[in-house]
Amino acid sequence: MNPYECPICHAEYEENPRVCPCGFEGIEYPFFWESKELNEEYEKKRLFKIYKFAKRVVTGELPYEPSPLTVYEYDDQIYVEESVDDRGLAYVDCKGDGKRKSFAAEGLVVFRSRTPALYLNTNEAHHNFLDESAVRMIFFGPDFERFENGYFRPYTLLRYLWVDAENRFLSAENNVLFNKDKTELISYASLRPETEYRVPASVKRLMPLCFYYPKHLKKLWLPRGIRTVGRAFFFSYGEEPEIIYY
Ligand SMILES: [Zn+2]
Repeated sequence: MNPYECPICHAEYEENPRVCPCGFEGIEYPFFWESKELNEEYEKKRLFKIYKFAKRVVTGELPYEPSPLTVYEYDDQIYVEESVDDRGLAYVDCKGDGKRKSFAAEGLVVFRSRTPALYLNTNEAHHNFLDESAVRMIFFGPDFERFENGYFRPYTLLRYLWVDAENRFLSAENNVLFNKDKTELISYASLRPETEYRVPASVKRLMPLCFYYPKHLKKLWLPRGIRTVGRAFFFSYGEEPEIIYY
């Protein structure tokens, strides 16, 4: 077994190539330290490099083949049941055809344990489309409209949330997901490293599960009069952030 592996195409190398022919830059030796802090530091860097790569793909700077998909048609909808792709970036591009909407089913990439990045360009998605997948970052394409029931369940630990600027329904700002006019906060990426967060004053509603075990959040500022839809907050016992209304 060769020690160097590209996290995107999984090519293995005896010597570090730095840049893989697939376009990924910054392959590193997959060392593991005794120290939890150093391992976390390594993982942070690894995710950032994958994020940089995926962003070049989704903005059209790097060529990338869309993922093969398991698709079936039912009840005038196109269901994407599975992304049959073992690469580090699953590129799920399957928008409807005008008459029918496309729908990302529950657990879309759940069997892809080596897939930390997901590009999703279906029209809709099941609220549990991530399930317990290994996805750490989602890039929503221009055609994505909505989650079933308006929210999603981020079982998996997310670090990056990004939305195509052409998308008319959603927006993201610094890894927090909103509807387009930022009146609803849909999801706060749980691995977001900042310890404080101020919910923008435009936000009127916090959607269900939008703060789902945020790992580093210690202080949360909320605009006065904000409403929660269903249960918005899930915090670990004893690690609840301080909530301040402004
Ligand atoms: Zn590669």
